[in-house]
Amino acid sequence: MKIDKFKIALIDPLTQPQPNYIPTGLCYLSSYIKKAIGDKVIIKIFPVMAHRLNQISEFNPDLVAFSSLTHNFILVQKMAVELKQMNEDLPLLLGGQHISMAPWSMPAIFDYAILGEGEEAFLRFIQYIMDSSGQNLTNLNNLQYWDKSELKALPKLPMIEPLDQIPFPDRESIKGIEAIITQDSHRKFNRTGLRNMQLTTSRGCPFKCKFCQPSVMWDRFRMHSPEYIAEEINYIYLKYNINAIHIEDDLFISSKKRITELIDLLNKKNLLKKIVYYIAGRTKQIDPELVELLQQLGVAKVEFGIESGSDRISNYLKGGSAGAEINKHAISLLNNAGIAVYASFIAGSPPETWEDFELTRSMIKWIKRSGKLNTCGLSFATPLPGTYLWDYAVRKGLIDPGNFDWEMLNTLARAPKDKSELIYLNENIPPEDLLKIVKRINLHMYLGTPREFLLSIPRRMVKIPRKINNLVSRKF
Ligand code: SF4
Repeated sequence: MKIDKFKIALIDPLTQPQPNYIPTGLCYLSSYIKKAIGDKVIIKIFPVMAHRLNQISEFNPDLVAFSSLTHNFILVQKMAVELKQMNEDLPLLLGGQHISMAPWSMPAIFDYAILGEGEEAFLRFIQYIMDSSGQNLTNLNNLQYWDKSELKALPKLPMIEPLDQIPFPDRESIKGIEAIITQDSHRKFNRTGLRNMQLTTSRGCPFKCKFCQPSVMWDRFRMHSPEYIAEEINYIYLKYNINAIHIEDDLFISSKKRITELIDLLNKKNLLKKIVYYIAGRTKQIDPELVELLQQLGVAKVEFGIESGSDRISNYLKGGSAGAEINKHAISLLNNAGIAVYASFIAGSPPETWEDFELTRSMIKWIKRSGKLNTCGLSFATPLPGTYLWDYAVRKGLIDPGNFDWEMLNTLARAPKDKSELIYLNENIPPEDLLKIVKRINLHMYLGTPREFLLSIPRRMVKIPRKINNLVSRKF
C-alpha cells in the first residue's frame, strides 16, 4: 500500500511555555526528509509542554517522533502516554541522546526508537511506512522496536559524511520561532534586545571527558565546510533578521583554518560586524592568533568547561588536557581582547576533596574578578548513561540500570534540594555539606555583587512577566 501524504509531528518537550532554543536536531531531520521525499510529507516541529498536546491532535499526524535527553526522559514518557490516550493507533517513535545511550530504557508506550544519528535512518523508516509493499522492517537501520515483548535493534549505518550533504535545518517548520529569536540575549551576548539564533557547524568532539554524553553519542568529530556555514549564516541573517548567533558546537574553535576561511567568506558577503557570536571551546586551544580571529569574527563570549580549579580533578575529568595555569592564561587572553567568558564547573566528582573544592571556589572568584562580564556555573557531577561516570555509579551500586528512576538525573531542569534528589558520586565530602556550599555559591553567582545586582534590576524586571507565565504554566 502506498501513502500519498504523510504527516509527521516532531516534538521537543518543554517544561516552560516559551522555548529558548532551536531544536536543531529535529530541524535537520525535517529538512533531510523533505529534501528526499518532497511534498508527499508534511512535517511540523512542536516545542511543546505536556498540557498543550491538543496542538498535536489538531495537526492530526500519522506519526509522532520525540527527541529526548536524559533530563526530560520522564516528561517525554508522560507525553507519550497522553498521546496514546487520545489516539491509541498513533505510532510513537523516540530518538535523541538519551535513548541512543540507554536503549534498554525504551518504555513499551513507544513503538519504535531511532538510535544514534537520525537523518538517514529516519528517512528509510518513513519510506518504509509510506511504501511497505515488499519491504521488510528488518532491512532498516538504527531502528529499535518491540518484537512481542522483546526489544530488537537493527544494525547501525555509518555516520553521514561529508556533513554538508545534510540540508540547512528546517527552522521554518518550528511553531513559535519568533519567541526563540527574541529571548533574552544578555546571558550569552552581554547585550539585551538582540535577535539571536542557534547554529550548528560540527558534530562530536575528539575528546572523551568522563561526564560527557554527546562525545560518546557522536563518536567521531565531523565539521561543516566554511562555505556551508557562511551560506547558512547569510540565509538566517536575511530570513530572520538576526544579529546574534549561538554556535552550539562543543568545540567550534578546533580549526583555525576553518575560522580564517569563514571570516573571509563572511567578509565577502558583507556580514562581518553585523552579527555577534557565542561559542565554546577548550582553553588549551586559545592562543593570541586564535583570539585575534575570534575578535575579527565578532565573538562576544566563549564558553569553557573548566570543571575544577584543581589540576588533579581536572585531569581526572578531562584526561589531562588543561590545568589552572592554562585556564587562567586563556581567560586572560580573551578578556584582554574584550571577549567575555562563561566557565562551567562540576562539584562532587568521585575523588574530589575539600582542598580540591576550595581550589574550584578560588578559580570561580578569580574568573569573576578578571572580567566584569565573565560568568560561571556550578553543577553536580551527573552520571549520564553512556559515560564513564555512569559506569562508575553502576559499579559502586549507586545505580541499578534495570530499575532506575530517571527523574534522579533531571538536574538540568531542577537543582537538587537535598541529597535524596541526587546520585551522589563523591567519596570524600559529606553530601549535605557540599550541597549547602554549592547552593550558596550558585545564589551568589545569580545575584552578583550588590553593585552588579543593582545594575541588573532593569534587565531582571523585563524578564518578570515571562517568569510568572512560566511558573503559572508549570502548575498545569
Ligand atoms: S571537550 Fe566538551 S564536548 Fe568534548 S568530551 Fe569534553 S565535555 Fe564533551
